[in-house]
Amino acid sequence: MAGKIPEHVIEQIRSQSDIVDVISDYMQLTKRGRNYFGLCPFHGEQTPSFSVSQEKQIFHCFGCGAGGNSITFVMDIEHIPFPDALVKLSQRAGIPLEVELSSDQQTQSNPVSKKEQQMREAHAFAVEFYHHILMNTEDGEPALDYLLERGFTREQIETHQIGWAMPNWDTLSILLERKGFDLEEMADSGLIIQKESDGSYFDRFRGRIMFPIRDENGKTIAFSGRILNTDGEDAKYLNSPETPIFHKSQVLYNLDKARASIRKSRQVILMEGFIDVLAANRAGVYNAVATMGTSLTAQHITKLKRLVQQVTVCYDGDNAGFEAAKRAAQMLHDEQLKVEVSVLPDKLDPDEYIRLNGVEVFKDQIIEKPHAYIAFMMMHAKRGKNFQFENDTLQYIQEVLETLKGNTSPTERDLYIRQIAADTNISPEAISAQLRKLSADTVKEQKRSQAVLQTPSNELVTKERKRDATDRAERLLLAHMLHDVNVVNKVLKNGNNEPFIHEEYLAVFIRLIGFYEEYEMADFHRFVEVLNDAELRKIVMEAAYIDRDPEHGDAEITDCMRHIEKRRLELQIEQLIHKQKEAEKMHEHRRALEIAQEIIGLKRKITTGI
Ligand SMILES: [Zn+2]
Repeated sequence: MAGKIPEHVIEQIRSQSDIVDVISDYMQLTKRGRNYFGLCPFHGEQTPSFSVSQEKQIFHCFGCGAGGNSITFVMDIEHIPFPDALVKLSQRAGIPLEVELSSDQQTQSNPVSKKEQQMREAHAFAVEFYHHILMNTEDGEPALDYLLERGFTREQIETHQIGWAMPNWDTLSILLERKGFDLEEMADSGLIIQKESDGSYFDRFRGRIMFPIRDENGKTIAFSGRILNTDGEDAKYLNSPETPIFHKSQVLYNLDKARASIRKSRQVILMEGFIDVLAANRAGVYNAVATMGTSLTAQHITKLKRLVQQVTVCYDGDNAGFEAAKRAAQMLHDEQLKVEVSVLPDKLDPDEYIRLNGVEVFKDQIIEKPHAYIAFMMMHAKRGKNFQFENDTLQYIQEVLETLKGNTSPTERDLYIRQIAADTNISPEAISAQLRKLSADTVKEQKRSQAVLQTPSNELVTKERKRDATDRAERLLLAHMLHDVNVVNKVLKNGNNEPFIHEEYLAVFIRLIGFYEEYEMADFHRFVEVLNDAELRKIVMEAAYIDRDPEHGDAEITDCMRHIEKRRLELQIEQLIHKQKEAEKMHEHRRALEIAQEIIGLKRKITTGI
């Protein structure tokens, strides 16, 4: 296969991608004893059942059975095929990897990936081009002066590769064409636009300061362009449209650069605009990220949840910002994250506040003095209400109690109830009574919905139990096969082409035969990487780490095979008994007798030990 990655390179990348480091890039792990634990990213859960063994360089989830090594972890979490995961890890480990992915490896992985690859390359080129114009040409001077005046440092302009798009109509379009990019694809990437009248192309961004928007791996996937003169009719900021590589609902600006600081500080500052993030950077706040012109989504939260448990929301101080902050705080709180909210005064946004008050005041007064979640929700509930009016008072109490119920400790509840009482002149006892009633209603509601949920899960449990003994035998047999090529050869020599009952084990077995034909040695790490199916990887990893008895391996293997064979015969007998009854019902006595004979034969087989 042309373009195949050599085995020793795969081995090198695997050995230099420590599993704890790799997984920590995506989620939070805590060391307990010899292993690390965290919330499984592959199934929703509140208690950590995802465990990572540094010693064995594997991960395993007790909840959903997911498992593998550092390479398959990246495959699973990024939903990418093996070669792509390898490229990612090689970059991470700083190992040069020149892959010309063979065409079948590429089509196998993802038919659109070539187009997306082109889009990313074009963006990388545009970043360099715009940045060069800003830093090194006369055309870029006014923009550079403006940025420096606004407080940007040269270092920051370099780090974030900020650039300048000249006011001409087609500078970039011409360059992209000259570089051999397909202009239709480039139009899909958002960099250029096709004119409807004559089908020609022109640049989307003209006369704008260009801020590259990077994905979490640091690759530019979009731009935001700021106009230099705000007196015209054009919008102040122009963002790339939604494209195959830029999904606003998923991107968190600066996550690539903030990740290390987020992990270190164990918290993240969530902002509304990328300009705010850049301003916060100048204040020495490096763990800030921002959504890109969209409100917070579940996908954003999933990304944050993998990294931290604590989020500080720092949105604009105006009304819209305040409402958006409330919505974001609630969503994060509902996802069991610890939420605080930094509130800006005088309807300012973080960038404006920093320019007015300086970086130190921003850090001391805003970032380091956030409001606790409930305190913020009370503040929000109080807005625009007049406690002279009964309606406003009742609504305020209701809103705050909704937040309080079920979420707080008794002391917190007591504290906030006193505060509501002080705000409204209603007795703490009356407020407590109302909270109790509200909580009771909620419990009833929860019980009702739980009752609905419980029935199917019980069914699942009994199903699991039924297949236990055979499953164990199959798993143990597979374990021996994974560690010793000879076991597979022996089984095949005996003419047993289907040594397993369950289809998923058979599927693994068939692939294992193919693997041994190619590699001629046992290496389950390598084997699990060539499996495209995450379900099959689960089965392999489960088997790879169960206890085998290497001393009495042969005896164990024979036992397993006997048990599986016995079970197979039992299943055959069950089927025959069913057929026999059918035959009797149809008064086909001769046939029923034949079947009975067959059953006796099978039963004898079982008792004589096959
Ligand atoms: Zn899981």
